[in-house]
Amino acid sequence: MRNEQGQAVAGSSGGVLVVGSVTADVTTFSHRLPGNGETVLGDDLTLVLGGKGANQAVAAARAGVHSYFVGCVGSDVFQALVVEGLRDNGVDISEVHQVDGATGVAHIRVDASGDNNIVIVPLANSRLSEDHVDQAIAKLKGRVSVMLTQLEIPARIAMHAVRSASSAGMTVILDPAPALELDEDIWQFVDIVTPNETEASRLSGIAVVDADSAIAAARWFCDRGTSSALVTLGSAGAVLVTGSETVQFEAYPVDALDTTAAGDAFAGYLGAALADGAQLHDAVRRAMAAGALAATKRGASPSLPMSADVDALMASRILTSNRKDH
Ligand code: ADP
Repeated sequence: MRNEQGQAVAGSSGGVLVVGSVTADVTTFSHRLPGNGETVLGDDLTLVLGGKGANQAVAAARAGVHSYFVGCVGSDVFQALVVEGLRDNGVDISEVHQVDGATGVAHIRVDASGDNNIVIVPLANSRLSEDHVDQAIAKLKGRVSVMLTQLEIPARIAMHAVRSASSAGMTVILDPAPALELDEDIWQFVDIVTPNETEASRLSGIAVVDADSAIAAARWFCDRGTSSALVTLGSAGAVLVTGSETVQFEAYPVDALDTTAAGDAFAGYLGAALADGAQLHDAVRRAMAAGALAATKRGASPSLPMSADVDALMASRILTSNRKDH
């Protein structure tokens, strides 16, 4: 949704629609990671709900808005884990589809220093279709004002969701993670794009190493038609470029333990704040507080913060933001 100046504005109908991936995250913890052909004995295992789409839907629900998830799960043992995980976290699962075969899996191995490697097998996620997206948009039009999607589902479906949600008048947020080459004409349908530094570099071809290069990369998206581009920079905060302003936001200072899912907390809270009627700068600050809190806890979905904790962090510190020459 855009105002007369073409800027992204918050919708008024409250809910967030997340079109994305859902996985069972199977994580092993061992002193060190095995080399090729090697077996090591591990110390622990966790099995939790994951996937960028599901994490962002949980973050939006924890932010306090109605969060609908559109995705596909399989008919295997992991199906109950992920569906119950979504439901228990307050996500509306009426648009979750069960397909034959296996639920998506992320196999994560973490060593004692926190280094990890990850294999994601999309499985049921690759069965998400244009029809699933269209049905959800037709059904939820009027109840959701923000559509949030990422690139862990087939890019064709994410692009379809962007176009359809835009023509349904929703505010469209694209978290281009993991970065993939996309249709050149897609950016005009995106209200806010939220790459991290790696994704911004990969998509724009501009090496993002500091705030100035992040601003240049953000401009790349706006030049191609996106209303607003927000490049997230971890503990260095974020930059926002719109058609009328360039702003650098400092991060909330926290003791970071594990930054996994900081970007998912950021995107989910950003979508929720806009759906709740917040102005863009306030929504960015809230998203940054959520990202900072996610960085203080281990794991992905378990580290997504609750809204009261985000309120408390925001109340404890007024963040500075600097307008730059545009
Ligand atoms: P991603 O997880 O996608 O790489 P980032 O690490 O850039 O995303 O995090 C998203 C946002 O979360 C940042 O813009 C920042 O506001 C907040 N954040 C992330 N890590 C930290 C940190 N160590 N300290 C403070 N804020 C953080």
